[in-house]
Amino acid sequence: SLTLGIVGLPNVGKSTLFNALTRNDVLAANYPFATIEPNVGVVPLPDPRLDKLAEIFGSARILPATVSFVDIAGIVKGASEGAGLGNKFLANIREADAICQVVRVFADDDVVHVDGRVDPLADIEIIETELILADLQTLEKAVPRLEKEAKVKKDRKPVFDAAKAAQEILNNGTTLFAARDRVDADLLRELSLLTLKPFLYVFNADESVLTDAPRVAELTAAVAPADAVFLDAKVESELLELDEESALELLESIGQTEPGLHALARAGFHTLGLQTYLTAGPKEARAWTIHQGDTAPKAAGVIHTDFERGFIKAEIVSYTDLVDAGSMAAARSAGKVRMEGKDYIMSDGDVVEFRFNV
Ligand code: GDP
Repeated sequence: SLTLGIVGLPNVGKSTLFNALTRNDVLAANYPFATIEPNVGVVPLPDPRLDKLAEIFGSARILPATVSFVDIAGIVKGASEGAGLGNKFLANIREADAICQVVRVFADDDVVHVDGRVDPLADIEIIETELILADLQTLEKAVPRLEKEAKVKKDRKPVFDAAKAAQEILNNGTTLFAARDRVDADLLRELSLLTLKPFLYVFNADESVLTDAPRVAELTAAVAPADAVFLDAKVESELLELDEESALELLESIGQTEPGLHALARAGFHTLGLQTYLTAGPKEARAWTIHQGDTAPKAAGVIHTDFERGFIKAEIVSYTDLVDAGSMAAARSAGKVRMEGKDYIMSDGDVVEFRFNV
């Protein structure tokens, strides 16, 4: 499954956030046999639609989709030079599908900042400079090789051109993700460049920032169009000790309406380019993870490879139509249930039953 690698300067709250991510009872209850690796935090994607479906179908249990975060050892200035943890750090990021950057916005004199000041945008620049330098090193090695290949094989010329264009963008201090409308990601894929991965920003803030709408808007705009999540990592870990009512009270006291981990799960899912479709029956109401743009047979394959191979058609009703009708039978007689074939592109909120040959 796809993962987001958590990176950030030392002392920004990565461990605190990661501990909160790994301590959720929902998953322990629903996926008791899943192997949970120590450096991977698996978070449920909150989806109130599943509760409603479970009600309609009398489902015995609810299985939400999940998002995986991998804890990556702290980055420091000079990581791209391969000093100390540098090499291992870069190799770990290379394996992640997206980069979740934790940025410190909280002020706390008891927690030392590596550069002696709290300046989130400067911190982002330090991290991104290291990643840009690592990519430039990769390209410095690759470009001469691609140039030779392009001379003997015509179809290698576009890759060479894309690599040269990427080099120029990086030399101007821009990540390839920020310049994604100007680069051909498909051509560059084979080079495993770090800054081509999608970025997500987690601003670890305290109450004074969380309730400061202009400040939140300013930081959101600074990283747009990447997703930005604002939370207080310390509070997030405290929430897990509380019952629902006290948790909501604590959140309200810092100007929030839901746990930051919920927003983080949604943003992570979105950043990875994922979406869900839903199935429901007496056994379970469940969200299945697919890529945005996947076809119906591909979606069926997530349940079982036989479903993809033997795909005949998908019986689909949109979640809102189903809820409006009140039951599958009522939705059917209202003409809201569609039969879709193998070219159908799945839509978020599709409630599906697949027909297949075995
Ligand atoms: P890491 O080095 O990025 O993994 O940072 P840690 O999670 O170890 O946090 C460093 C210190 O900052 C610890 O003492 C945490 O308790 C503290 N800390 C983390 N998040 C917050 C926060 O949101 N607010 C405050 N005030 N302190 C925090």
